[in-house]
Amino acid sequence: MMKVLIFGVVLLAAANPCSSYAQNINQIINTDAVEKIERALSADDMQGRKPGTPGGEKAATFIAGEFKRAGLKSLYGDSSYLQRFSMLNAKPAGVKIVWGDGSLDADKVIAFSGRPEIDLTEKSGYAIKKLKSYAELRGFIDSISLITKNTLILVDSSLAGIFPRIRRFGSLRFKNGNNHSSVLVLAQQLPEKFTIHIKQTITEPVLTNVVGIIPGTVKKNEYVIFSGHYDHLGIADKPENGDSIYNGANDDAAGVTGVIMLARYFKAFHNNERTLVFVAFTAEEVGCYGSQYFSNQFASPNDVTAMLNIEMIGTESKWGKNTAYITGYDKTDMGKILEKNLAGSDFNFYADPYPDQQLFYRSDNATLARLGVPAHTISTSKMDHEPNYHKVSDELNTLDVANMSEIIKAIAISATSIVQGIDKPSRVNAGALHK
Ligand SMILES: [Zn+2]
Repeated sequence: MMKVLIFGVVLLAAANPCSSYAQNINQIINTDAVEKIERALSADDMQGRKPGTPGGEKAATFIAGEFKRAGLKSLYGDSSYLQRFSMLNAKPAGVKIVWGDGSLDADKVIAFSGRPEIDLTEKSGYAIKKLKSYAELRGFIDSISLITKNTLILVDSSLAGIFPRIRRFGSLRFKNGNNHSSVLVLAQQLPEKFTIHIKQTITEPVLTNVVGIIPGTVKKNEYVIFSGHYDHLGIADKPENGDSIYNGANDDAAGVTGVIMLARYFKAFHNNERTLVFVAFTAEEVGCYGSQYFSNQFASPNDVTAMLNIEMIGTESKWGKNTAYITGYDKTDMGKILEKNLAGSDFNFYADPYPDQQLFYRSDNATLARLGVPAHTISTSKMDHEPNYHKVSDELNTLDVANMSEIIKAIAISATSIVQGIDKPSRVNAGALHK
């Protein structure tokens, strides 16, 4: 077997000789156990785990059941692992646009606003922004709840292809969040005169994160978070080859499977001086709302020692087996700490090789990272070539479950010194982040 496993056995046996469970990490994290959870989460009966749908709720209930089986405590001293919160969801109910001398089709406009009506002209005082690339558009949508003024965004027409997908989700807003409107228009130029009138139907879906903890033995108020998002894209409007369910086996049933495995492992190990927090977030795919809600009210960011978010670890990384990358690698020394704990093993972490994609800002680690927390995402996804990414074909049979199991073990072992209160990663210099 891999050296990483041998290393793990030695370390655990030395650290906790009384626990027969902890003597062998393979008894807890192995291909069979990983596949069982991954299979359940990516099954067709989860209906693509879209937030606020029966399939999404079914996934949350399943994860809560696994947290209970693992012996986690609930966060607030009640018996529930489910963290529920209300959102506003707006769906377009009518759009009229006068655009210079002409007009624009309704499908060229997307509003992000919790208001039932939006009226906007060149005199409305909206800030104007232009987005030219997919990365810019994606970055904008991911941080849309941080926008502090009404904004009209001109989206380059080369991005027309992804407009329908953005619209399909409707637009979520925090119920008690800011009430600014962002209006995306697919157009190259802003005319001198324009009128946009949008009517929206507003509903109030209740969304659900799943959270469980293992209280620290010494440093109870220092938190180490392990997370992944359980939501995915739901059911496609039109079937492809007879399949219409976005199973999201890699994105991100794989990460949540990792979180459940780590919960079992650390519970059995039970040598965590710091409090460990295990979270399955909702609504990542539509703007990281689950993690924003959780992060903004969980604890003071200063009390969060580290966050290891796991996103898409089901395929081989560009370096092959027994490797993964860490987003925002150079923003803290956490990567170096994780590597130190893997010394002598066959497993390697690398810095994120896709810096143009801004992955550090695109997943559930971003909210806490912006607040200074060493919060990174661990992934293997080949962002330039992952044929099933955001497709109905992202299914269990496309994953390398054995490799995934090795990655989860490596995360467990690499986090040991942080979990045990020995190492404390340096903070993100939040002031220097460009978003
Ligand atoms: Zn994802």
